Amino acid sequence: MDQQDIRRELGLRPIINVSGTMTSLGASIVVPEAVAAVAGILPQFVEIDHLQKKASQVIARLCNTEAGFVTASCSAAITLAVAGAMTGPDLAAVERLPDTTGLKNEVLIQTGHMVSYGAPVEQGIRLSGARVVPVGQATSAHAYQLKGAITERTAAAVYVVSHHTVQYGLIPLDEFVAICHAHGVPVIVDAASEYDLTGFLATGADIALYSSHKFLGGPTGGIVAGKTELVRAAYLQNSGIGRGMKIGKEGMVGTIAALEAWEKRDHAGIRERETGYLKLWQDTLNGRPGITALIEPDPTHNPLDRLKVFVEPQEAHITAWDLADALASGSIPVIVRDHEVEHGFFYMDPCNLHSGQEAIVARRLVEELEKARQSNEVIATSLERRRNRREEALKKWPH
Ligand SMILES: *Cc1c(COP(=O)(O)O)cnc(C)c1O
Repeated sequence: MDQQDIRRELGLRPIINVSGTMTSLGASIVVPEAVAAVAGILPQFVEIDHLQKKASQVIARLCNTEAGFVTASCSAAITLAVAGAMTGPDLAAVERLPDTTGLKNEVLIQTGHMVSYGAPVEQGIRLSGARVVPVGQATSAHAYQLKGAITERTAAAVYVVSHHTVQYGLIPLDEFVAICHAHGVPVIVDAASEYDLTGFLATGADIALYSSHKFLGGPTGGIVAGKTELVRAAYLQNSGIGRGMKIGKEGMVGTIAALEAWEKRDHAGIRERETGYLKLWQDTLNGRPGITALIEPDPTHNPLDRLKVFVEPQEAHITAWDLADALASGSIPVIVRDHEVEHGFFYMDPCNLHSGQEAIVARRLVEELEKARQSNEVIATSLERRRNRREEALKKWPH
């Protein structure tokens, strides 16, 4: 793989991703079936509505639902699904958005679901012209609050399933759906990173949204799946606000191929391989001064474990964030999952590795930990500066 690594030709760092499926790192390793499909369609013309009908059949089969289509991203899918709930099949209303005059335009979402996946969930709702109506507080929401927020202007309710959201004190999906449906309000589930293609719709939710480029290993894209009428209304937005969220034929066939590959994938075999990586890293780390590594299940119950690596700075001679930064530097940068690093730990995600990279990762861990131990002082840089680093870099981009 190394000899023909396009990243070197482009002058880009050959990073190893143990962070997860992150847009900022190029999402995921696209499965060979999708790579072949993308290459196959690129030189050809197709009738896009027909291709989307084909996508609908495949999505319907895998999600055990009625219909579906492919759009630019799950973020786009949120906007289009909400827009469809407002306009229905009214093509004139589709062209008027984001002006929602005369339409139901309130969209409910639990406050604890108003998270950022790199952009705010609620902005994806507002982009359609809808007005966001938060339900409950950051760490609690109750049935009476949801009922009390429903008015004659309510167009839809959005429910987010993600490790980003508050994981306690909120309304479970089945109860959320029951309350919304009792008042005629459709429920749109943002399940961008969830492996479960059928369970959310099985609760009765009207639409479920997924990313093509996360667990599925497709090219960048978003999947809208669910009941025909609402899916069609969302699809119609392609002649309106959806135009700027357009996906090409390559994204459509790539997503179809990734879904079909998912159906045939050796899920147990992959899990076993990933567990092997975690055990290797755990064995490499445990027993080293100041380091404790534990295997932890995914917080939203995806069939995936991660290694949680605690770093005790006085013993390890380095903080968790400085270790993360040290791993991310050098000629083979290893990018760990550092969302919560201020608490003194980071995670290592095994699902985006080419075989052989697990050993390189283990070697890099040893290198950096041994280097730190040889330091006479504890390596501890300012967390505040680290927190502001991305903003600083963005302000200087493209320099
Ligand atoms: C990743 C993610 C999104 C956005 O998905 P894209 O396809 O990358 O736009 C939306 N919601 C959640 C919960 C996500 O994790």
